[in-house]
Amino acid sequence: MFSADIAGHQAIRQRLLDRLQGGRIRGSLLFTGPEGIGKRRVALEMAQREICFRRTACGQCEGCRLFQGGDLPFELPNLLRIVPEGKAGVIRIDQIREGLDSNNQPRFSRGVIEWASLAPPMNCHRWILVEEAHRLNESSGNILLKTLEEPPPGTHFILVTHRPEALLQTIRSRCERIPFAPLSPKEAWAVALRHGWQEGDQPRWSALGEGSLRFLGEADFRRAEAQVDAWIALMAGRPFSEAAGPLLPEKESTQAQGEQLRQPLELLLRLLADVARIRVGETPALLPWREELTTLATPQRDLKAPQEAALEALRHLPRNLSPEPLIREVTLSLVS
Ligand SMILES: [Zn+2]
Repeated sequence: MFSADIAGHQAIRQRLLDRLQGGRIRGSLLFTGPEGIGKRRVALEMAQREICFRRTACGQCEGCRLFQGGDLPFELPNLLRIVPEGKAGVIRIDQIREGLDSNNQPRFSRGVIEWASLAPPMNCHRWILVEEAHRLNESSGNILLKTLEEPPPGTHFILVTHRPEALLQTIRSRCERIPFAPLSPKEAWAVALRHGWQEGDQPRWSALGEGSLRFLGEADFRRAEAQVDAWIALMAGRPFSEAAGPLLPEKESTQAQGEQLRQPLELLLRLLADVARIRVGETPALLPWREELTTLATPQRDLKAPQEAALEALRHLPRNLSPEPLIREVTLSLVS
């Protein structure tokens, strides 16, 4: 009954399937949980199963083929995908209202609301998948509200996000929340092995990923690893100019500069939490870095100031236009 290439979440997938078959699914669902654990894949599976010739999301038939490949179309017979656009990475009102892309060219033939009201293909629902739903801005969120509350019969919204707190409260309250837990280390590493990862990488890969697949790509993983090493070096007193490189945004990235700082800041918070754990004799979560972290866990080190600086920086990310001073400021708090 389930796609073989999705890892984990068996209980949620079974429950969603049962409810769908029993006609007991609400109009709008909100999938929440950590980044990179497969929430979007589970949402796609619901649509894919209905198009699959075997009705199982078999992954082999012509129907399933529509759902495969890295570059999934925005519109499929029973599915419309709304994704953030442009460097700022927001879901704009034109996408919702008229189905336009960032150059104001039609991307799908209709706006979301009109698309939602069309009759679904035979024996199918219509699925509207809003990916990274925390990137709806206030106006695009507001225009979705009414349709979210009462989608046309046979139409379901699935909003997917790892940052539900960043969604408008009015949107959250109109959706049924389906919380996803991280994968088990075993489930996540099994996927990594299929993607060519080697046993030697397992401790660091599993520790950094925390049951997610967000570091499946080698470059993403190496970058996170370099960011951990950079913070450790800065905490040990290495000069900013020598050590901070991996923490700063990459100019050629498609992600907004401020958004690129989220990961290093979150990693810093994890490192500080681990230093605190070591101090009280507990095992650090980032176990492969235990030795380095232990040398940093001196009693005179202030953990509170950098924690507050990192949290404050995270709060200001959406508006931040100058990443370097922000990271510099956080760094200053590390050695005070
Ligand atoms: Zn199939």
